[in-house]
Amino acid sequence: MTLPPLNPVYAGLGTTIFTTMSALAAETGAINLGQGFPETDGFPEVREAAARALTDSSNQYAPMKGQGALLEAVAGFYGRTQGLSLDPAKNVLITSGATEALAAAVFSLISPGDEVIVFEPHYDAYAPLIERAGGVVVRVRLNPPDWRFTEAQLTKAFSPRTRMVMVTTPNNPTTRLIPPEDWALLARFCVAHRACVVSDEVWEQVVFDGTTHHGVLNVPGLETLGVKIGSAGKLFALTGWKVGFVCAHERLINQMAKAHQFLTFATPPMLQSAVAFGLGLPDGRFAEEVAALQRSRDRLRAGLEAGGFRTLPSEGTYFLNIDLPGSGVALDGQAFALRGVKEAGVATIPLDAFCAPGGEGLPVVRLCFAKSDATLDRGIERLSAARQLLS
Ligand code: GLN
Repeated sequence: MTLPPLNPVYAGLGTTIFTTMSALAAETGAINLGQGFPETDGFPEVREAAARALTDSSNQYAPMKGQGALLEAVAGFYGRTQGLSLDPAKNVLITSGATEALAAAVFSLISPGDEVIVFEPHYDAYAPLIERAGGVVVRVRLNPPDWRFTEAQLTKAFSPRTRMVMVTTPNNPTTRLIPPEDWALLARFCVAHRACVVSDEVWEQVVFDGTTHHGVLNVPGLETLGVKIGSAGKLFALTGWKVGFVCAHERLINQMAKAHQFLTFATPPMLQSAVAFGLGLPDGRFAEEVAALQRSRDRLRAGLEAGGFRTLPSEGTYFLNIDLPGSGVALDGQAFALRGVKEAGVATIPLDAFCAPGGEGLPVVRLCFAKSDATLDRGIERLSAARQLLS
């Protein structure tokens, strides 16, 4: 039997922690508070618009860079909600999900040997994408409860070979937003090194307690270096749709479009039409969804705290984190998550999965609260009952 040698980046990878935990939850009948997806489908009016487009409009290839109506809707939406001034024909690109946008950014904006700075814990897709593109991952470690980087850390991380920085705000898994003063600090380094900033902002609308999201394109100095990535999945609670948007200076959009044209080429037209419709919905419609999510966050937090767990602040996203040492739990995140799904019947995600393998541990687990009250209550009950077992 002659077997071909395999690319080591992929050969060394397992399935993602989200897939693993969802499979374990399905196998054991556990309540799935792991992988981040809403329990019920999102905006019905947006789904209806997709259904109409599917039967009434063309199902052939959409334009490579995105349908005109969606490009305009994206520019209009960010103009209205974040004060950005974007030319739909020049500054916007539609991709098949934010993950494709991340891939297109990494593949087209770095070259082999270039260094890319990421902040650990970071979303699981970043490191394999960088490595497959021949880049070198440079990790800056952040710690709870504030998860902020310092000037000393940036000084150490940046080098003449730094070509890109990848950030997530609001952050998955830490839930924190990058405040303007931290953006200003980062911008100083990026401008000095002419490094692009790929900013994964898919959670931009899911922020709580009146906090304001500051995106990369609002940061003075980063207008020509920033790549802002958004996602319809998170905006409309339709995570399976995989419709992403990239906003950036024309030069970067054109470069990324060259990667996109050979990754997926174009994105399903009926979904693009529906997303264009959805982006035109009144602000109050989005606020309703966020208010419901905030109530779910508060319910999960109150229940877990009453059950003997210490939680970390949740500023945005679908997630709430449990601080294990703060809760008096001696298990590490991996062990807690495994025993949690098998013995307590609740799936969670350990933050170790967002860190370099074999590195410093991070004894925190992430729980998704985009669920019904009944599901949250069952999860709280089971975790609280197992509190002694899981210590
Ligand atoms: N973004 C989702 C999460 O953080 C996971 C997406 C996936 O499973 N790839 O839970």
